[in-house]
Amino acid sequence: MNRMQLRFLSRSENEVFARNVVAAFALPLNPTLSELSDVKTAVSEAVTNCIVHAYPEEENWITISCETSGDKLHIIVSDSGKGIEDIARALTPFYTTCPGEERSGMGFTIMQTFMNEFHVTSEPGKGTRVEMTKRFGGTAEADAR
Ligand code: ATP
Ligand code: MG
Repeated sequence: MNRMQLRFLSRSENEVFARNVVAAFALPLNPTLSELSDVKTAVSEAVTNCIVHAYPEEENWITISCETSGDKLHIIVSDSGKGIEDIARALTPFYTTCPGEERSGMGFTIMQTFMNEFHVTSEPGKGTRVEMTKRFGGTAEADAR
């Protein structure tokens, strides 16, 4: 078992920073390139959501907590921003509260697809917490995907 926590401001350049830190933390579990890329994509989407939706008008803190156990990496991305009124609706593919901008409403769907477990909790005005788990199989099958 190993743990780390990362706290950084919701600036767009920190999205690349955060996904690479999480990927580096996962390396001892010997992920395949494809598994590592899945994790980076999911972290990018979660962090981008904090930057764009949680804190639309200000720079504020984003926290990522990671824990490894066995062949699993557990990730929690949390903010103390705007929150989500209707989580079920927010999880619907192509649903976005920012239509017309560069958003396609696919971030949560991508996280769900690329990770083995996924769960969102949120309270309007208080913040949002996205929990995700990736299991590293390290199989040829996973690489062929
Ligand atoms: P895309 O991710 O494709 O650029 P998107 O961000 O709108 O578009 P999702 O990532 O699926 O799509 O998020 C769906 C909706 O959930 C967002 O439009 C936003 O309203 C809400 N949301 C997601 N994450 C947060 C967050 N951290 N804080 C507040 N609202 C959020
Ligand atoms: Mg998004």
